[in-house]
Amino acid sequence: MKASSIKKYLKPNTIQGRKSTFSNAFASALAPYDTYSEAAVAEAICDLDQDPAKDLYCVYCEKEAATWDHVFNRVVKGEFSGHGHRIRNLVPCCRTCNERKGKRHWKEFLELLNPEDKDQRIGRMERFLHAHAAPDDYEIIQRKAPEELSQFLQIRAEIFRLMGEADQLAEKIRKKATT
Ligand SMILES: [Zn+2]
Repeated sequence: MKASSIKKYLKPNTIQGRKSTFSNAFASALAPYDTYSEAAVAEAICDLDQDPAKDLYCVYCEKEAATWDHVFNRVVKGEFSGHGHRIRNLVPCCRTCNERKGKRHWKEFLELLNPEDKDQRIGRMERFLHAHAAPDDYEIIQRKAPEELSQFLQIRAEIFRLMGEADQLAEKIRKKATT
């Protein structure tokens, strides 16, 4: 480690700098989820050509899986995308691919990895996603709970506004403390 790397700590921190963490928390809170069902999970894993009784491997690089990747991100531009904690939106994944994939579309990420049997891997992902397609949960929420959703979004906006206010106060406090 270089001594100069200390620099990143020697600057003001803002609450709003963490806004994406809060956006994620709000979006995740909205996302409906499937209750655990051994049978439904086994069926989904079989659709990925894997054996649900064995250790799972990464659907992208085929190394040992260590986590679950949300095929479609829960949050797009700070909003709930409509894709949540559904069995058909979660695939076994290694940590490296999970980090590298980031906001990319799963197909784009497979194109990037470009394994020899790419078409086969794309094929089984498509089968997994389309066999029992997960619903667009945001569309359902807007239709079934429009009033609660609007109240929820107002609360979020108010919290973001208060975060800005707190940041301004924090700046004043720092200035007073250092002069
Ligand atoms: Zn991987």
